[in-house]
Amino acid sequence: MYKISLITGDGIGPELSESAVSVLETINDKLDLKFDITKLSAGDKALSEIGKALPDETVDVIKKSDACMKAPVGESAADVIVVLRRMLDLYANIRPAKSYPHMPALRDDIDMVIVRENTEDLYTGKEFSLGDSAVALRIISENASKRIAKYAFEAAKQRNSKKKVTCVHKSNVMRVTDGLFAKACTKVSKDYPDISFEQMYVDACAMNLIRQPQEFDVVVTTNLFGDILSDESSQVVGGLGMAPAANIGDNFALFEPVHGAAFDIAGQNIANPSSFLLSIKMMLDWLGTKHNDSKCFDVGQKLESTIFDLVKSGIKTKDIGGDKTTVEFTKQITDNL
Ligand code: ATP
Repeated sequence: MYKISLITGDGIGPELSESAVSVLETINDKLDLKFDITKLSAGDKALSEIGKALPDETVDVIKKSDACMKAPVGESAADVIVVLRRMLDLYANIRPAKSYPHMPALRDDIDMVIVRENTEDLYTGKEFSLGDSAVALRIISENASKRIAKYAFEAAKQRNSKKKVTCVHKSNVMRVTDGLFAKACTKVSKDYPDISFEQMYVDACAMNLIRQPQEFDVVVTTNLFGDILSDESSQVVGGLGMAPAANIGDNFALFEPVHGAAFDIAGQNIANPSSFLLSIKMMLDWLGTKHNDSKCFDVGQKLESTIFDLVKSGIKTKDIGGDKTTVEFTKQITDNL
């Protein structure tokens, strides 16, 4: 039995959470893998009701669980996810972008993953006013850079594809911070002679994601660049509705969609739950590795291929050219599981 903590979130978060719960319960019933799910509040609603975007009880339950699923939260996201990433030292943010059939994607042969450093850079919140200026500290350390580089090379080793790591930075302008990041990645690359290594400036990477996305395998980059590039890579393969993410540390992991709370479509039963459900697949793979539990890998594979087959057969939500509601699409998945 795996204990799963679930932050239900804001905007489309509660709808995605309903979908995730119904998939996890179906797995409980049909697939012989047990989950004990605890729903938790955090985000804008928690802030207005409890006075804290990340209530202490929520943190306590997360810490006692085996893994956390987090639906998107709204304006208070920085006080929830950025804090959790640092508090739990979830240093690797993994954002795959893969072509699925019958998607509004640029090409059908894209299979890449962005490995984003998750604890440093401009996202540490060290900002202040100084005279008539506003200052943000960009912190990049050698330790964190090497740690994320190592994660990226290990990921490249395990993937069946191109065995390539692209280190993305802007060291020609930010010579000290990105210079350090590039140097740390280069150093780590020497330990992986079988993986090819290249460096790319972030602006060139943004262009190449449109021009030749099929050339990428593993992209390793700093926090802010990773955030921006992963929205782009999601769109390249068909949109944010299909984009899952994992935040991984040495002892714990949290899974969430790449997208935000999408208030423009909240409460309309039209959100694509695939991003969150593919995050469950990432969670199952992580649990499988951590607990040496092959059942997790099998169920994760089954969940991904169920979503894959549905999309292939044209059963899709509106954002990717279909007409199914969130509830209808989820029901198809649970029926097919
Ligand atoms: P954030 O800054 O928190 O990342 P954002 O304002 O960039 O949020 P998102 O919530 O990430 O916006 O979404 C951008 C747009 O993509 C939304 O306006 C919405 O229309 C669409 N979108 C996002 N997620 C989904 C989804 N799961 N299903 C359908 N459409 C989505």
